Amino acid sequence: MEDFPFFRLIFFSFSDLSYGEFLNILSYYCKKTGKSLTKINRWYPSSKTCSNCGWYNKKLTLKNRIFKCKICGTNIDRDLNASINIKRVGTSTLCESKDSIESYNL
Ligand SMILES: [Zn+2]
Repeated sequence: MEDFPFFRLIFFSFSDLSYGEFLNILSYYCKKTGKSLTKINRWYPSSKTCSNCGWYNKKLTLKNRIFKCKICGTNIDRDLNASINIKRVGTSTLCESKDSIESYNL
């Protein structure tokens, strides 16, 4: 039964898993490999915030696949921009208090 999460990953794509199941599997492997898992606030506007200067684009919609910053001129893939922001928030909060961000050292 210890390898159950691994087999789930083989036979199902991530889209077949609920968010809770995905977190359970991820937590399992982080714990097993001595890694830490940090969760950021689910409402953090990672897609709408410029990863270069921090400008917030409240008009960005799901149809907009490129993030264009009106302040610094950055043009970047929306998902790449979001991933940079998520990484920044996750790593910066590892040493901060955890008021709005949950961090787990497994
Ligand atoms: Zn910018």
